[in-house]
Amino acid sequence: MNYQNYIVFDKSVNKTDGHDVFMARSGAETVIVADDGLGFTGKSAGDGKVIAPLCHENAVLLRRLFPFTAPSPVLRKERSFGLGDRLGIATFGHIQLFERYDAYPVFAQQSIRELTLTNRTYEDVLDAVTFAVFREGFKKPWGADGDHLKTVKDVEYALSLGFTMITLDCSEHIKSGVTVQNAPPLPPAYAQKYLGKSFDIGEGESIRFDEGELRQTVAIYGEAIAFAVDMYNRFLKDGKYAADFEISIDETNEPTTPLQHYFVARELTDGGVKFATLAPRFCGEFQKGIDYVGDLAQFDKEIKIHSSLTRHFGYKLSIHSGSDKFSVFPSIGRETRGVFHVKTAGTNWLEAMRAVAVADPALYRAVHRYALSVFKEATAYYHVTTNLANIPDVGQLKDDALPALFDNNDARQLIHITYGLILTKKNADGTFTFKDALYNLWRDRESVYNDALVRHIGKHLDLLGVKQI
Ligand code: ZN
Repeated sequence: MNYQNYIVFDKSVNKTDGHDVFMARSGAETVIVADDGLGFTGKSAGDGKVIAPLCHENAVLLRRLFPFTAPSPVLRKERSFGLGDRLGIATFGHIQLFERYDAYPVFAQQSIRELTLTNRTYEDVLDAVTFAVFREGFKKPWGADGDHLKTVKDVEYALSLGFTMITLDCSEHIKSGVTVQNAPPLPPAYAQKYLGKSFDIGEGESIRFDEGELRQTVAIYGEAIAFAVDMYNRFLKDGKYAADFEISIDETNEPTTPLQHYFVARELTDGGVKFATLAPRFCGEFQKGIDYVGDLAQFDKEIKIHSSLTRHFGYKLSIHSGSDKFSVFPSIGRETRGVFHVKTAGTNWLEAMRAVAVADPALYRAVHRYALSVFKEATAYYHVTTNLANIPDVGQLKDDALPALFDNNDARQLIHITYGLILTKKNADGTFTFKDALYNLWRDRESVYNDALVRHIGKHLDLLGVKQI
């Protein structure tokens, strides 16, 4: 075996202790080439070098030898941006963007639901980013988010691998359907602490509870707060892990009122929890992969108070399901004064599929037709209001009209929520129906996907007011 047949990725050429390590490609295969004795697992090239595959052991070693390939806590930076990449191939395009913009990327960001739907592990997710960062020589800090974690086991799993951010999903502990009428009696300690007072939060805003609202708020959030305090004390209090804590209360049907936001932040703070970000459930709808649906004036009014609250308590506002919310990005940028965390996920997958529509119309049509056939099944996992009747028949569309499907909200949601079924669909003989063909295309036409990401995620950053550096 001779690595001379490989094409070297120029930006990957690194030295450690006088030893060379770089990445190279031959056809479909990308490998690490390293001097003997560094500990890489692989085959000897016969000239003092090892040809090492992109496996988990070698990713672990890369992270040890080259700290820029390991995640770090970036959530406390002024601007951070989550880039859930379900495919393990989007980081190349993301790197091109975040080299230029004044914001810190969280390249690795997956929920357990996303891992399950794509048959991936947190090892895969982190390793894919490590290899991409090494290949492209990206030296800025970047983060890894164990997103929407709900259990001790999952938080432990993410932290044990070195994830630098835990998003604690409190939704299962938030009571729904609680009204002023049906909320149980108020525990006296809360009455004493909150009633008959006005809480100045600065910037001309203050918070005042009446008995009914407070009773309702305690009933809705009491258990969620206890859960967050317990998880913080268990994992993060002693500082054993270099990880930031995000509190997520967004996965509920009812919006988080500014009053409720104050209560949750106040109780967490008084409970000793140090958190970097909080994700409220905003008014209106933040559906996956499409623009904001709701009353813009009300959103403006509420985000102003949510933002004041974060400054008062000293954390950042986190905006979940932030893909494609173009009509509210300017007010998010303005009201948070350019201090925020925004998460995207599905839109990175949609851009990958837009690239397929551009580069291989026949493959795209086949995937699209399959997505239509399993759409109903997929709605069990995601809340959407898709009307399939609004999607043109791909059999009638000319090839060059296919990419425009990604400007159609109903088509976007169709492809958005069926990703797991598309990627795991198998033929009778056990081979993947679409997965391998899709990955081959994305590898061979990498620049088509990279360009789409730079344009589309770049639009997010521009509208949020993030400057280029
Ligand atoms: Zn969320």
